Amino acid sequence: MKFSDITGHNNTIESLRELVDSDHIPHAILLGGQEGIGKMRLARAFTNYLYCMNRQNGDSCGKCPACLQNEHHNNPDVHFIFPRTGAKQKSTDMFLPQWNEFIDKHSFMPKEEWARAIDAGNTVPVIYRNDANEISRTAVLSSFAYRYKTYIIWMPEKMQPECANALLKLLEEPYPDTLFILVSNAPGQLLPTIFSRTQRFNMKPLTDDEVCKILTSEGMAYPEAQEIAALSEGNMIKAYDMAGEGGEMKEFSGYFIQMMRLCYAQNAASIRMLSDVIAAFGREKTARYLAYCARMTRESFINNLKVPQLNAMTRGEADFSVKFSPFINNRNVERIMSEIQRAHDDVLRNGNGRLVMFDFMLKIMMLLRK
Ligand SMILES: [Zn+2]
Repeated sequence: MKFSDITGHNNTIESLRELVDSDHIPHAILLGGQEGIGKMRLARAFTNYLYCMNRQNGDSCGKCPACLQNEHHNNPDVHFIFPRTGAKQKSTDMFLPQWNEFIDKHSFMPKEEWARAIDAGNTVPVIYRNDANEISRTAVLSSFAYRYKTYIIWMPEKMQPECANALLKLLEEPYPDTLFILVSNAPGQLLPTIFSRTQRFNMKPLTDDEVCKILTSEGMAYPEAQEIAALSEGNMIKAYDMAGEGGEMKEFSGYFIQMMRLCYAQNAASIRMLSDVIAAFGREKTARYLAYCARMTRESFINNLKVPQLNAMTRGEADFSVKFSPFINNRNVERIMSEIQRAHDDVLRNGNGRLVMFDFMLKIMMLLRK
């Protein structure tokens, strides 16, 4: 992981680079912000830059022994601490094989995926007192091979209180060659005394363009990437969820096609059932579905204008839209859009989802015939 692998967060990268370049490494750095924005990726890129023996153009080289050790997870001076399950006698080391695979495969750190990787079941992983003991034990030793020992703590908000207190002691009397990097989804939940001893970087959600850039760089077609980005709230974990096999986009697309067919056929009984199914998504997801309906309606209308460059649809959506677009026209498009908007607002305003959706679909049914 290099700085050049990071999308967005330019100011934070600049500040972190400056810490290394000016040789002013604090004892503790806190990278805070919502999940799915790449905080751990940045922590790793920073660590690589710190250890790299041949820094080039403000980035790590990726080739020197330190870079290779970091990339292969065998730098003896870099330690990861993370929430885990298990009897307290277990040590974090036991989970390292899963951990190394996890951070390589899921570098945006979906915590549900981590819980699955360690078979957490219904147990919420935490950071145990034992883990802090392990830090204390190794922190007193000098570093093995490099100038610094680094402890990267993922989700420090999951530290048990005894663990947090032990970490606080270490931060109060730091060893000169020891650096802590706290990677937190919820910095507000940290002990204020820990919080105040860190140099803090408040990382923002990714922009839509940044999410889109990451998705297209991984091979996704532009229209789909753009749409997912718009709904991702700057969170790559959400974006991957939506994009995945059986993801939300495919699900929504299926329901949208079904809904429009039933509305056109004026099949009120089936419409009733479908509105129940969609309302059962829960408020937030129903609202996302309605946002999806707005996009598809807009796209279908644009289809009529026969200017393909204006369209932003996946191939499957486009196939349906070609057949569907004649039913969206100058006479009804505005009212359909405003009905979608109204249903969207009503659902979020705690309206009865089943009634809102049924009423909405009946209106669409009438408007399609206009
Ligand atoms: Zn290097």
